[in-house]
Amino acid sequence: MIELSGVHLLLTYQCTLECDHCFVWGSPWQSGTISGANVQKILDQSRDIHTIRWVYFEGGEPFLYYSLLLRSVRAASSMGFKVGIVSNSFWATTVDDAVECLRPFASLIDDLSISSDLYHWDAALSQQAQNAQAAADQLDIPLGIISIAQPETVDTDTAIGRIPTGESTIMYRGRAAEELADRVPHHPWDQFDTCPFEDLRDPGRVHIDPFGYVHICQGISIGNVFEQPLAEICAAYDPGTHAITGPILAGGPAELTRRYDLPHQAAYADACHLCSQSCAALRSRFPSILTPDQMFGVTWA
Ligand code: SF4
Repeated sequence: MIELSGVHLLLTYQCTLECDHCFVWGSPWQSGTISGANVQKILDQSRDIHTIRWVYFEGGEPFLYYSLLLRSVRAASSMGFKVGIVSNSFWATTVDDAVECLRPFASLIDDLSISSDLYHWDAALSQQAQNAQAAADQLDIPLGIISIAQPETVDTDTAIGRIPTGESTIMYRGRAAEELADRVPHHPWDQFDTCPFEDLRDPGRVHIDPFGYVHICQGISIGNVFEQPLAEICAAYDPGTHAITGPILAGGPAELTRRYDLPHQAAYADACHLCSQSCAALRSRFPSILTPDQMFGVTWA
């Protein structure tokens, strides 16, 4: 049983960009976008869980589906949720255009998180992010910048390293495992005996994708809201006996690999690198848990 304070709705897996570090494999060529009716179903289910206060809309890039995003934000706000959006700010080509884009959201959203770093743009603080910041200031919309450090700036011996202020460390899952893991030192596979990034027992929030899958970590599903209400999914989730989170909680990705006797390399960039490889190897065994294809880099354009 988990108690949620927030849900993050992935409106689409599509994105204007195809960043090397993206752990949901966002891409212009990706497929999977939710309908407005299904957003409403998820909001209704979220309201039935009285502890949920925050609803975030993200992707992919949620502004790609502007009318869907606006309709979803209006619905969530009118239901009394605090509302956030995560975006790469591609739409903020000028301050004036950004103001017009954001104006309908003014007074409806409590957080606008903008991704800006050297994965997304050619400057750590992109012109688009600066324009979005100026527009948000004009409209009194709270805005924060999400920035992920380059691999070489992080000392993976400590998993903390010299991360510049305001930046987060990269996790080598999703596309990052394929595109970036070779740029950092590797460590013996059996040292990864814990999950360092997610609280799999009490996550506080879950991600729900366009197909209704509820992700405890990206690509690890605990149910589908189009088959069972979110409240029942949360009540039924038993982290210790779940086929994937159980072994991870018992001994990290190393135990997941050991438990299912999976082939593995001698060393990995981080825990997520080993974890995502082992999950990919287990997909045929646990198809309803390790899903959908989009989370494993399969593109159906
Ligand atoms: S170790 Fe596995 S479960 Fe933990 S954050 Fe990384 S990919 Fe997710």
